[in-house]
Amino acid sequence: MIHPIISGNKWRKLREYIQLAQFNGHKHLISFGGAYSNHLYALSFAAKEFGLRATGIIRGEELNPRSNIYLAQMMEWGMELKFVTRTNYQQKIIPAEVEIDKALVIPEGGFGQLACDGVASIMREVGQSKFQHIFCSIGTGATYLGLCQSAKGSTIHGVLTLNNLAEINEHAERLKINTQQIYADYIFGKYAKQPKELVQFCDAFEDKHDIKIEPIYTGRMFYGLYDLIQHNKFKSGSTILAIHTGGVKS
Ligand SMILES: *Cc1c(COP(=O)(O)O)cnc(C)c1O
Repeated sequence: MIHPIISGNKWRKLREYIQLAQFNGHKHLISFGGAYSNHLYALSFAAKEFGLRATGIIRGEELNPRSNIYLAQMMEWGMELKFVTRTNYQQKIIPAEVEIDKALVIPEGGFGQLACDGVASIMREVGQSKFQHIFCSIGTGATYLGLCQSAKGSTIHGVLTLNNLAEINEHAERLKINTQQIYADYIFGKYAKQPKELVQFCDAFEDKHDIKIEPIYTGRMFYGLYDLIQHNKFKSGSTILAIHTGGVKS
């Protein structure tokens, strides 16, 4: 609900990078993501709003700006799209023709210390130590690690949405942030897979609470939270904050 396009945690993750760009006189933002990256989608719109050039380096040389409506929209907002091979993507190679002069490179998926710092705004909004437990989903881990870094007096629970626990632990070590509870039981096989049980859970949740959730991130998080509650992992009367990180059903 933060913004119709730069929604959920994506604005929190981007804000510090945009401020840094403005402060240091960068005119151009470059970042990396997959063909359905919510991060690049938010970045392309934010760059337009702040009068910055944007380049998105997209995994998959076989793709083009018409491969999906998100890519087409990003291009319409003025982002330059560069489609690279999976190998070059993995190595985070910026194609030679991309001008890097005066550019700020934001890491893949928007993960970095500045993204984690931006997430601290959640704690300023909800207040410290008001909840015994805080839940969020984990993609790159910026939101989760940002909460581990900034939330005092709460246990932080992260629900993995893909098989990337090793990467999250590496990120945590690099930024010297201690992780807390991380669950690998609600991945449902792999990223973005949408089994019937999960989709039905999301539909029922929306019917009951009139809050939209999608199966990729928030659906997995709430599914995990409900499962843990059902298995009596929390004492009756526990205070739990579940963070809706955005994303809507398409
Ligand atoms: C990007 C995204 C996440 C993952 O956030 P990270 O900080 O990268 O872990 C979670 N939920 C939604 C809806 C997202 O778009």
